[in-house]
Amino acid sequence: MERAGVVTLDKRHVWHPYTAMEAYIAQTDPLVVVRAEGCYLHDADGRRYLDANGSWWVSTLGHRHPRLVRALVDQASVLAHTSLAGITHEPAARLAAELAALAPGADHPEVPAQQRLTRVFYSDNGSTAVEVAIKMAAQYWAQNGRPGRTRFITLSGAFHGETLGATSVGGVALFREVFGPLLFDVVQVPSPAEEGGWERAFAEVERALREGGDTVAGVILEPVLQGAAGMQLYAPAFVRAVREATRAADTFLIADEVFTGLGRTGARFACELAGVVPDLLCLAKALSGGLLPFGATLASERVFSGFLGERSRALYYGHSYCGNPLGAAVAREVLAVYRDEDVLGQVARKAPRVKAAFERMAETVPGVVRPRAIGMVGAVDLGGGGYLAHGGWRVYEAARRRGLYLRPLGDTVYISPALNIPDEALEELLHGVEASLREAAGD
Ligand SMILES: *Cc1c(COP(=O)(O)O)cnc(C)c1O
Repeated sequence: MERAGVVTLDKRHVWHPYTAMEAYIAQTDPLVVVRAEGCYLHDADGRRYLDANGSWWVSTLGHRHPRLVRALVDQASVLAHTSLAGITHEPAARLAAELAALAPGADHPEVPAQQRLTRVFYSDNGSTAVEVAIKMAAQYWAQNGRPGRTRFITLSGAFHGETLGATSVGGVALFREVFGPLLFDVVQVPSPAEEGGWERAFAEVERALREGGDTVAGVILEPVLQGAAGMQLYAPAFVRAVREATRAADTFLIADEVFTGLGRTGARFACELAGVVPDLLCLAKALSGGLLPFGATLASERVFSGFLGERSRALYYGHSYCGNPLGAAVAREVLAVYRDEDVLGQVARKAPRVKAAFERMAETVPGVVRPRAIGMVGAVDLGGGGYLAHGGWRVYEAARRRGLYLRPLGDTVYISPALNIPDEALEELLHGVEASLREAAGD
């Protein structure tokens, strides 16, 4: 089908995510992508675009990594799907064992057996991975002697996904407001990334734990990096302090590593930057390398054991595609590629270049402020007034003309490319971002 035909059908029938559809239909000339390879998207006009955000943060090994494609095709040719009820299969069983062996704390002999992340519950995406964690925490307390523990402590600026439970624990006002009456009550504390430092946010966590008495089911956070809030970085010390406080209060820490997990920050899990083992850990996005939707919630042996006994104590929860063999087979191959291609080593080598480039942009481009970087994430804000005030979309347009797909988060311009991005492509990306900022700033 010709490009124009695709756009016509799209504008007549497709409702796009996070998109003001009236303006989109009237004004937007969308990219029509026909294929993708490595860190490039190829469009219907034969142009290529460097995928600066790894296709919404999932494509950490680049598009169509040959080993992932092969794993998918091989698995599809023997078993594409079955339920996981009374049935198991090698991909789900082996992946669970592999995740448990890689989880934070797995290689530290001093972590008690009850605290180890030994159990894996599968679902379809990041939102469901979070939803599962919320329900596990709530049900654990309901049936283990603390029925009053029904509230979660959450962070301002947090993003945990789109379902109503995940929205309830989210802290981005724009995504919450309209659904306010449908959301459950939480105790929201300031973001540790806000001015005033993490200590102020932590003091609020401590206060909420103290004043909440026996009502707190857990604290949920994106360790070290709040992604959707605009790549807001904060000190690992905050995560450590929250871990100590939740242990002291004997309540749960839920780490949402849907974005940070599997190397984005340079560590395998961002929890490791803080040296903590959470009670529940949510994974999706990179887990299936951008090939298909797949999620997993890792639970400690303690959480798991709280569901044993009478049948009525079971977790009555599950999605049609729980543990889907295609997703599990691809996820296993993702983990194998990380190991064989030393992806974390690659990030360690490239991260200083990302950091230096974003620092330079803030120094040299008028109106560009707050450079920050960790692992394979670099970001700046367009907060300095002038032409760049509210200029995220001008930067997007300038980048697009240069063959860069660089979608901003409000006034935050950031990159979150494939972790295995080749050196030349990384240079192209960093120069392209700087040039686009300059152009949009009229510099
Ligand atoms: C993207 C994201 C989610 C939601 O994942 P989906 O797969 O989009 O449902 C949850 N938590 C964090 C931290 C995320 O970045």
